[in-house]
Amino acid sequence: MTALRTVLVTGTSSGIGLATAVRAAEAGWHVVATLRDTGRDQALRAAVEAAGVTDRVRITRLDVTDPQSVAAAVSEVIDEYGRLDAVVNNAGVGRLGTVEQIGVEAFRSTLEVNFFGAVEVTKAALPHLRAVGGRLIAVSSLGGLIGQPFNEAYCAAKFALEGFLESLATVAATTGVRVSVVEPGPVASEFVAHLEPSVPGLIENAGPYEAAFKAYFASTAGLFEQAQSSAEAAAAVIDVLSAEEPPFRVQTSDLARGLAAIKLADLDGSAVQAVTGPWLT
Ligand code: NAP
Repeated sequence: MTALRTVLVTGTSSGIGLATAVRAAEAGWHVVATLRDTGRDQALRAAVEAAGVTDRVRITRLDVTDPQSVAAAVSEVIDEYGRLDAVVNNAGVGRLGTVEQIGVEAFRSTLEVNFFGAVEVTKAALPHLRAVGGRLIAVSSLGGLIGQPFNEAYCAAKFALEGFLESLATVAATTGVRVSVVEPGPVASEFVAHLEPSVPGLIENAGPYEAAFKAYFASTAGLFEQAQSSAEAAAAVIDVLSAEEPPFRVQTSDLARGLAAIKLADLDGSAVQAVTGPWLT
């Protein structure tokens, strides 16, 4: 049992999840850093040791697509610390390609991780968050606000995530639980390296979209040159964790804020298409 606040973070083998776990521990939280494969914990362990927060970080298996592992990880938090104050639904996977290329099953598997995974973790965590007036955060994406070309499955999953949590937010607030979504733009993490299928394979079978696909990669390479670091994106998550009055929606960079502002004022959809259409020419 402990009086320190406890946060569970999903997807901490790399990137934003890893940085969030370390920064939360530095900020004084007990962190349950979860991974779907605990054999991939080397970078996390090294970062935790380098930050000198080993005593505040517990590493546990949690695959968001495996409900038993979700339930077991949440039970472990309660057994070990007696409380769960916050959850960061961070685990996610990218998926490039248009529906004719990648097929329906790729949509299902992308939603399984990015959307249903967060639903599963949220359902398991809510009773414990309610007990302490806790908070629930999801690492969404600008792709949860703006439908980006060749990111159909990923954006569908992140739109679903935001719809779920925007609906839940007011309901959860009636019981003292605050819900927030954090929307990064491009982040220099392992995300692009983890993309499936690989870029050359996609261009090969792009068919009528080959020219548009090539133009898309050229345009978005420019955007990724402006990518923020995982630590910068994680800092925005920690701000939400620590805020007295956390916002529902927060972007992690000026680039993300600028694009979100276009979307949130775009009543007929033309402003977003004026931004994303030229990426394909
Ligand atoms: P990342 O380095 O690839 O991290 C993704 C994490 O999710 C990894 O730890 C990965 O674990 C984990 N994961 C994947 N499937 C999982 C599953 N079934 N169960 C549990 N964990 C799973 O990329 P990142 O940029 O830090 O991504 C973190 C979040 O930020 C994601 O939700 C992503 O959509 C979002 N985001 C990223 C960007 C960007 O440009 N990088 C932009 C906007 C939003 P493994 O190592 O085992 O695969």
